[in-house]
Amino acid sequence: MQRIDLHTHTVFSDGTDLPCQLLKQAKAMGLAAIAVTDHDTCEGLAAAEASGQAEGVQVIRGCKLSSMTERGEMHILGYWLPYRSAPLEDLLSRLRAQRNVRNERMVEKLCSLGCRLSMEEVQNLAGQGTCGRPHMARALLAHGYVRSLSEAFERYLASGRPAYVPKEVLSPDEVIPSLVRAGATVSLAHPLLHGYPESWLFATIKRLRDLGLDALEAWHSEHKPSDVHLCQAWAQALGLDLTGGSDYHGSNKPNVHLGTGRGNLQLSTAILEKLLRRRRAQGRLVKV
Ligand code: AMP
Ligand code: ZN
Repeated sequence: MQRIDLHTHTVFSDGTDLPCQLLKQAKAMGLAAIAVTDHDTCEGLAAAEASGQAEGVQVIRGCKLSSMTERGEMHILGYWLPYRSAPLEDLLSRLRAQRNVRNERMVEKLCSLGCRLSMEEVQNLAGQGTCGRPHMARALLAHGYVRSLSEAFERYLASGRPAYVPKEVLSPDEVIPSLVRAGATVSLAHPLLHGYPESWLFATIKRLRDLGLDALEAWHSEHKPSDVHLCQAWAQALGLDLTGGSDYHGSNKPNVHLGTGRGNLQLSTAILEKLLRRRRAQGRLVKV
């Protein structure tokens, strides 16, 4: 079976691999295709596509956008992004600007909790990439305030912890139609990860389906078998497709591996073929 991975991050957000390193690894693992889905940016896609060509691995132009519901965050994956779309670029730069405000507020909170970090050093860890909590975690680790990246989240950065500040982002009801207008295929990332009540989540997914949501990310490193089954049942009930990916972040998430996640992900090219059939039926551009 030829395998794929539709959820990966590079240094252009909070992953640690350059696009060329990611694609080399994909080739070494025998993956047929990967989607590069950095947070709130398309900046790494050109380099990823060039490396994909060199390595003989298909690259799907993707991104992962943050959105906020009344219950908390929801992450939206966009696939087959256009090469040029002023409205999409606009949306992405708005999301990044909101992120920067939030990052500064979180660093201020960390300082007031006795962790003397500067925004400058956190930004330096992100380089040109989208900056976020994993970079704060690395700065906390470098200063010896915590002993591991996961401790940084557990003590300070996770939702509900003392340095957490929610992102003031758009609702999925705004993000999804923007992606659809740009011609993207849209999937809801790891729907069961946040622990939202199932009845609320199902009703929300149904509403988002009516706004253009195409798929649910059933297979994900943090989804249990029962989560996968629930996504499959909901997708069937609502006429949605399914996607899957590891959410690979390189050494920022050392236990999550490209292609296999925590070891048991197996994503076949059949997933991709189904998505492409949907795109054809929708009259959307299909580039393979
Ligand atoms: P941000 O977009 O800045 O809110 O950061 C989100 C990133 O932090 C995602 O890539 C998550 O995978 C990562 N993250 C969230 N919670 C944790 C956690 N408890 N441990 C490690 N990484 C986490
Ligand atoms: Zn991330």
